[in-house]
Amino acid sequence: MKPLRIVTPPLGANSYLLENAIIDVGGDTRFLLNKLSKGLKEIEYVFLTHSHFDHAGAASDLQKIGCRVVMHRKEYDSMKAYMSQFFAMVEPDIFVEGGETFEAGELRLRVIHTPGHTSGSICLYEPEKKWLFSGDTVFPYGAFGRVDLPGGSALQLIQSLELLSKLEVDMLYPGHEEPVKNGNQILISYNNARKFLI
Ligand SMILES: [Zn+2]
Repeated sequence: MKPLRIVTPPLGANSYLLENAIIDVGGDTRFLLNKLSKGLKEIEYVFLTHSHFDHAGAASDLQKIGCRVVMHRKEYDSMKAYMSQFFAMVEPDIFVEGGETFEAGELRLRVIHTPGHTSGSICLYEPEKKWLFSGDTVFPYGAFGRVDLPGGSALQLIQSLELLSKLEVDMLYPGHEEPVKNGNQILISYNNARKFLI
């Protein structure tokens, strides 16, 4: 099964539905529930690439109906520390630090800590399919996440992009815009970030 992409309000963040998991949920619960093609009982995990409201706003509602929210511990700490309007407030069920692997039906999702856009941003990597769900860390066509919001860091983003550029990635599933064949897109983003952020 390929990831089902749902473009969510209010800022067009991508949500990706996998067999028993969803990666990012957008900010409008009613919209998302209408779009979901399967019973919610089957969604065990809600992975949040980070806790900005456009990706994570609906997470606490999904939690109320039984989904388990997965988030990086640093993201949670940052969300609590800044309490800014950019962050959605949600109490995660499962904290990750990077390196964990989750079973999602036939897929395996490896958590990679990729700070820079926020301090606890994560990417999820499926090693057999070579899929990378990259949140707001890396986008197609040489683009990369902004680093000027609370918890952002240009240096960390560059280091994260370098790490990702070394992975074997066939399909890039970004947090905004269309999924693309990777080719050397991540490498281009890394080079651009080094050029424009330093
Ligand atoms: Zn973001």
